[in-house]
Amino acid sequence: MAGLNPGGRSPEASNLQRLGVFGGTFDPPHLGHFILAAEAIQQLALTRLLWVLTADPPHKQGRAVTPASERLAMLQAALASAEQAGETGFELSLIDIDRPPPHYAIDTLALLRQQHPGAALVYLMGADSLADLPTWHRPQEFIARCDEIGVMRRPGQAVDLAALESQLPGLSVKVRFFAAPLVQISSTELRKWLASGRNCHYYLPPGVLAVIETRRIYR
Ligand code: ATP
Ligand code: MG
Repeated sequence: MAGLNPGGRSPEASNLQRLGVFGGTFDPPHLGHFILAAEAIQQLALTRLLWVLTADPPHKQGRAVTPASERLAMLQAALASAEQAGETGFELSLIDIDRPPPHYAIDTLALLRQQHPGAALVYLMGADSLADLPTWHRPQEFIARCDEIGVMRRPGQAVDLAALESQLPGLSVKVRFFAAPLVQISSTELRKWLASGRNCHYYLPPGVLAVIETRRIYR
């Protein structure tokens, strides 16, 4: 993705890196996630994008979440197929697998800051997550820790940034909206479809369905 580096300078110079951080449960990873990631690289001129699989998502306590090992296998398959298709900007981060819970994004960012000194950290999310931000752990400090927050608009999800700004002052200067034409798709819907035997082939990145079938994940 060197060609997308702002100013065309070497991405190796770490102070010029624009690192996308895309956290999620990815249960399963779907086309919506990959469209978000690919559009973020393009539209926000990211040098690289880290896929941060959250082992124990703080927002999904009390909900059944597929074991991290299964979600990791699905995400690895999707990333391998992306790489085969020529995508060089994606990287898997195990930072929220390797450390004990709770996996708050604010702590993830602090650790990534240590690992990538000088890089601009662009935290990525869908508009539904932006609307939820006031309920995140220490949201004000989380916002302060992000250099930018890249938000992809999600169908059916209106965002009132002014209202959010009044709850979380300093948010709006960090937010960079980007958009893509997208089907309304979510992991929740896909889990239901997969459990009922519906054909989800077109909604999942190549390789993911094979992992689901082999490991019988959503049966
Ligand atoms: P679930 O239904 O289980 O919550 P999900 O589809 O929302 O799953 P997550 O793993 O919760 O997927 O989401 C990770 C990130 O991806 C979040 O920031 C979410 O907003 C974003 N995201 C997921 N699906 C889409 C989509 N279709 N368009 C834009 N953003 C999306
Ligand atoms: Mg979600």
